[in-house]
Amino acid sequence: MRTRFAPSPTGPLHLGHAYSALLAEGMARAAGGAFLLRIEDIDSTRSRPHWEAQIHEDLRWLGLCWDEVPMRQSDRLPAYETALDALWARELIYPCQCTRRDIQAAASAPQEGAEPAFGPDGLVYPGTCRALRAPGYGTTPRPRGAALRLDMARALETIGSAAWFEETGAGPTGETGRITLCPAQLLDHVGDVVLSRRDFPGSYHLSVVLDDAAQQVSHVVRGHDLFEATAIHVVLQRIMGLETPVYHHHELIRDAQGKRLAKRDDARAIATYREGGATPEDIRRMVGLGD
Ligand code: GLU
Repeated sequence: MRTRFAPSPTGPLHLGHAYSALLAEGMARAAGGAFLLRIEDIDSTRSRPHWEAQIHEDLRWLGLCWDEVPMRQSDRLPAYETALDALWARELIYPCQCTRRDIQAAASAPQEGAEPAFGPDGLVYPGTCRALRAPGYGTTPRPRGAALRLDMARALETIGSAAWFEETGAGPTGETGRITLCPAQLLDHVGDVVLSRRDFPGSYHLSVVLDDAAQQVSHVVRGHDLFEATAIHVVLQRIMGLETPVYHHHELIRDAQGKRLAKRDDARAIATYREGGATPEDIRRMVGLGD
């Protein structure tokens, strides 16, 4: 078993991160496997070296040890470029010039009373640029400086009946079950997600899938808020011929009002608890992993 923790250095780690990391490490250790770290720093406008340093410090303080040199997404551009070239040649991605405002305008134009749909990445792309593709465009060079979107309909067609993944419980006795993706849900409520941004040859979805494969992650432990994103990741793994890991979506740690913790929620930051005199055991107890 190989599990990972993949934080973005865009803010302090909070209790929810601690839960995810401790759970992933615990699963790996219980199975005699490896626990890996990956720094998801592709968002250069929000990632900061001091947050990355703080992540290392917080994880060490919590008593977590990772077994290999951490991967950093900012070092992985060549792998993302290669994957994008292959998807482009297969016409599974297409260029999109739409601005956020264009998408908003097209999605809210009155169409037979349909309400604009929201997916894991916000407004579902209404498909404007999909209709503008020239036949055989996959043989032309992949454009730079444009966003590239997944053609979800074509991707689903390509994978056929392979649209499923295994979900497992956290413990050694946790049950594993098969979850089948719903194509209609993916088409209507997720749509043509961005796989390469205008300013960066990759996106969260593309990078996470390629990096999990490169780190040979066998079990992805992540919060339930990423359940819909997992469906996208499974589609990507299948079209790119990558192994689909087993997933464990854990419950979210919420504040006293039942609201999920955000990165800006500094009151729940591990560092704040630590400065207030909490011990790593206290943090384990707070997230329900204590003895
Ligand atoms: N880096 C992302 C985060 O901080 C996602 C981790 C994942 O894909 O499991 O939430």
